[in-house]
Amino acid sequence: MESAARQDAISMVDLKAQYRTIKPEIDAAIERVVNNTSFIMGPEVTGFEQAFTQVSNACFSVGVASGTAALHLALLACGIGRGDEVITTPFTFFATGEAISQAGATPVFVDIQPDTYNLDPELIERAITPRTKAIMPVHLYGQAAEMDEILDIAKRHNLRVIEDAAQAHAAEYRGRRAGSMSDLACFSFYPSKNLGCYGDGGMVTGNDETLIKRVRKLRDHGRMSKYEHDELGWGYRLDALQAAILGAKLPHLEAWTEARRSHAARYNELLAGSDIVTPAARPYNRHVYHCYVVRTPRRDELAAHLTQAGIGVVIHYPLPLHLQPAYRELGYGPGSLPVSEACAQQVISLPMYPELTDVQIERVTSAVKAFVG
Ligand SMILES: *Cc1c(COP(=O)(O)O)cnc(C)c1O
Repeated sequence: MESAARQDAISMVDLKAQYRTIKPEIDAAIERVVNNTSFIMGPEVTGFEQAFTQVSNACFSVGVASGTAALHLALLACGIGRGDEVITTPFTFFATGEAISQAGATPVFVDIQPDTYNLDPELIERAITPRTKAIMPVHLYGQAAEMDEILDIAKRHNLRVIEDAAQAHAAEYRGRRAGSMSDLACFSFYPSKNLGCYGDGGMVTGNDETLIKRVRKLRDHGRMSKYEHDELGWGYRLDALQAAILGAKLPHLEAWTEARRSHAARYNELLAGSDIVTPAARPYNRHVYHCYVVRTPRRDELAAHLTQAGIGVVIHYPLPLHLQPAYRELGYGPGSLPVSEACAQQVISLPMYPELTDVQIERVTSAVKAFVG
């Protein structure tokens, strides 16, 4: 009985399903690195950095230890630190705000659009102060933020823009790739991301060679040569083993992205007319559906109902950053960013990964409809 129930369960993501489809390529990549014993930097890392330009469409890429390291390095390379403010969204993974704080700056949280859940460009300008140095939009769930408006505001106020593209590999905004639109952009290869490694990994991309050179130096102890350092940096390198795994996965990213988009279209079709809010993809965006997120005021009951039915769900994210205990000293109270707070109580992510089957999608949507009507 128990094993039958387990077999029926539909998980939120299924990394084993993906590994099964590409096992020979992954195993060969791992064996290559182990045989070479070239574990730090070297050709696997530079090779993957070059290959990744086909995803970001930016001129330069620097492999780093994680998405969080990418954000931290991008801020440092832009010279952002103590006394500076960076405008960002509170409706994101904690690392977005954390990187700003670890760089020594203060995150200034601005509310989001209620349909895309991305930073609301209408609200940015009133948050700008003489200390503001940058805007950090997040391309949440795989859909690019409103970049034209954001870049225009940044230009008028002489601010840097750093994209948090951790969820947006191969996403596009008006034909431009996430990762190519701003001063620097940051990707994560956390295992469950659209392109994920088998541990931690990240990438900084950009078109400004001076900034990229700063990132490259800071990721590796501020090194000028093997044992000569003219400043302090960080131990933020991408492992060669992870680079090799990512290089083996990269040729599949386009097909995986199209699978995600087609699953989202099927979800939309099956949930149409039901009493649940489906994702709002802007017509000028290529949404890559890192998460398929629906919205209902009865979210907690729906989550319990789906869990009961053996369907894996996750809340991205239950507590916006401005209400996190770690940010209490910033002084935002409940009600200060009402759209983010409402979304945090109402969103729920349904199973989404490339190998999901139509039968599974039908089971998920039937269970959702049985609950919401
Ligand atoms: C995953 C993620 C990060 C952090 O990436 P790590 O590789 O886990 O450090 C940062 N921002 C967003 C929006 C993310 O989803």
